[in-house]
Amino acid sequence: MKLSNTQLLQHLIFIDNKWVDSASNKFFDVNDPATGEKIISVADGGEADVLKAIEAASAAFEIWKSKTPKERSGLMKKWFTLIIENIDDLALLLTTEQGKPLAEAKGEIQYGASFIEWYAEECRRVYGEVIPSPVNDRRFITIKQPIGVVGAITPWNFPVAMIARKIAPAMAAGCTIVLKPSEFTPLCALALAQLAMDAGIPAGVLNIVPTTDAKAIGKILTTHDAVKKISFTGSTQTGRLLMQQSASTVKKLSLELGGNAPVIIFEDADIDGAVKGTLASKYRNAGQTCVCANRIFLHSSISGEFIEKYTAAVKQLKVGNGTDHQTQIGPLINSKAIEKVEKLMKDALHKGARLVTGGKRNALGELFYEPTIIDNCNSGMQLSNEEIFGPVSAIFQFNSDEEVVEMANNTIYGLAAYFFTSHVNRAWKIAEALEYGMIGINEGIISFAEAPFGGLKQSGYGKEGSFYGIDEYVVTKYLCFGGMS
Ligand code: ADP
Repeated sequence: MKLSNTQLLQHLIFIDNKWVDSASNKFFDVNDPATGEKIISVADGGEADVLKAIEAASAAFEIWKSKTPKERSGLMKKWFTLIIENIDDLALLLTTEQGKPLAEAKGEIQYGASFIEWYAEECRRVYGEVIPSPVNDRRFITIKQPIGVVGAITPWNFPVAMIARKIAPAMAAGCTIVLKPSEFTPLCALALAQLAMDAGIPAGVLNIVPTTDAKAIGKILTTHDAVKKISFTGSTQTGRLLMQQSASTVKKLSLELGGNAPVIIFEDADIDGAVKGTLASKYRNAGQTCVCANRIFLHSSISGEFIEKYTAAVKQLKVGNGTDHQTQIGPLINSKAIEKVEKLMKDALHKGARLVTGGKRNALGELFYEPTIIDNCNSGMQLSNEEIFGPVSAIFQFNSDEEVVEMANNTIYGLAAYFFTSHVNRAWKIAEALEYGMIGINEGIISFAEAPFGGLKQSGYGKEGSFYGIDEYVVTKYLCFGGMS
């Protein structure tokens, strides 16, 4: 991997704007999923390191929160500019450690950076309120203040964006951060830290502790008194654990957990538009996104036409190493991920699903899976209840609106849902009936810095993006002024 800005390939722990070894002096390898080759060894943080990071973040909080929003905004805008200036290097780093195609990596960096830009603007508008008083001798107002040190834990599927979506609003609000990135993709996180330092973000505002011991670091972040907030993106299982642990210090939490997104194609849909939208939702990042289509419901009257057009489009998708410019589907992240896809496929085929295309590993290597379609799926199959997290389209059929709403809502998850119809009345009714935090109507890609991202049910709570997103990092204080008469 040849970077123009060699400073962006870092491998140590980032505390107080310094690159430091781990206290244990241990390292772990970060590998390229496309080739299996080692990229670099990264310092393996432990208890002593995260405690140091929390200490640095606590000290920096006193300084950072006293800066005016305009000052914070200026520094964050510089950081945004540097990220965009270094986008080619960052994209190469992202593709090399995560596997997604370069074009998608660039898209992710632009998307991630847009949160930094948005919150650099939004932090100047964190208004309190004047509340009309019911008594003449008192006046009521509210003010919003940064909550304090934030512990952030992020996954590997969007190694830049999932971090930016947390750090940007936290930093903008005046909080300081200790981040634990995924052990599979720590390099983008460290590159972002280098650029934050270059932009002049003060020491201690952002601290990053890569580790292979997520459990131990997570325990400290969730139980430490100085950490006032946890923001987590990952599995529902880990989210539940972090919630339990956070109870000991009654910490505020934002949880963006698993999904099981339905895509519903009604009989009045524009089929070509539905094919395009479903394809984008399903196969982005080789199906490794928490908002990607997990169950595709087709009205039986249009299923033949949809499957024919969809299959033709899926067969065109080019599988390959993400650094090859032609590639549309890269490798899955690791052997556990591909084994899970194989397990779900085996179960579905055993229970009556029909293989339309794909259904096996690609000859390119261990972690490559063919873009796949199966139909005749039903709710008894494991993939109906679990995230596939791979390039597999599972097709179900339905005959009425009531039936499909019930099928779509029949899950513990409630992150994103999509449907395609040309009837405005149906669009309203279905959007209201679906128990999901985000709904794409005639659209498969719906996430923007300006819009609130977040789930319902066991997909978690809290919003990332939009003006709602900054509320996750502030406390609202009520002030009552008395003695007025
Ligand atoms: P996924 O299945 O998407 O990898 P995980 O919940 O396992 O979801 O991982 C998401 C993030 O949570 C990663 O950074 C991972 O290291 C971290 N993580 C996993 N287990 C724990 C834990 N017990 N405590 C804290 N963080 C954890």
